[in-house]
Amino acid sequence: MEPDDLVEVAPDILRLRLPMDEGIDHVNLYLVRDGAGWLLFDTGVDSADARACWERLLSGPLAGGLTRIVVSHHHPDHLGLARWLHERTGAVVYLRPEERDAADQTALPTPEAMDACRNYFGLHGMEAGDVTAITGDLLRRFLACDTRFQSRTLEHGEVLQVGRYRFDVLVQGGHSVAQFCLHEPTAGLLLTGDQLLERITPNLSLLPWGDRHPLRHYLASLEQIEALDLRCVLPAHHGVYAGGVARARGLIRHHERALERFRARLQPGMKAMDVATAVYGRRRDVLDRFLALTESLAHLQYLEEQSEISQGAEARWHPRHPVAASTTAVALTA
Ligand SMILES: [Zn+2]
Repeated sequence: MEPDDLVEVAPDILRLRLPMDEGIDHVNLYLVRDGAGWLLFDTGVDSADARACWERLLSGPLAGGLTRIVVSHHHPDHLGLARWLHERTGAVVYLRPEERDAADQTALPTPEAMDACRNYFGLHGMEAGDVTAITGDLLRRFLACDTRFQSRTLEHGEVLQVGRYRFDVLVQGGHSVAQFCLHEPTAGLLLTGDQLLERITPNLSLLPWGDRHPLRHYLASLEQIEALDLRCVLPAHHGVYAGGVARARGLIRHHERALERFRARLQPGMKAMDVATAVYGRRRDVLDRFLALTESLAHLQYLEEQSEISQGAEARWHPRHPVAASTTAVALTA
């Protein structure tokens, strides 16, 4: 793959595909013509190759420079190069304060934050070796970003005029605490970041920081997206696609089916890590086990909020008895 794979995907909108070493092998960034320059949506992972690619672009096809940078959320393939690009181009950066905070928390900045993280994963049944790896340097290495730059924020419902386009700003929870998506109602375009991907389901994690109700917020976000005029989705991974409304409905069904599996596999007294293994199987990689655990916590919390299960002493989960059965039991003992 060429690092500077730059193609026009809509009038005055370019997709830049950059390679990545971890997980998915690429990330899509988008450039929207903004007067003489470009608004950039997401920045890519910070690496020497990516910086070299940007230098080539900024002295070639993107010589008009960057006017503004919208960082959809705090994960490194979106936020990673924001500081460098801001300093290199002088572009204004839009980043939600919740996302900045989540990025800073991911770096476990204080001994107290590290202790809280260690206790959280230990309490929910993560093996001691995994807890040490996660709180050692794994989170920091995979997820932490440099946020030492000035930024502004945008509000949900705000309008962003960019060249020929008038984008409505959406602020969406679930995958991250407050992810920006940009919807252009006239053209039916949606810049989604990771919120609505065609071939993969965005991870939803209940962590010691970030979104406090990831699954509830993600389902609410999908219901909002379902109501939009969507003819073309511009996602952070894989190709540009039509059928965004159908994809939003498919993702709602995906999580309904996942909740069914959680209901079926939960045995009284299980810790979240036991449930994660029962639902997803034993993962070989520590990062995958971490994701399975935090995604399980998001689903267990949702079932708890629906009063279907409860979390007892030592963070052990229990199905609640059906109302009819407990009524009968009361009647027999009365
Ligand atoms: Zn992400």
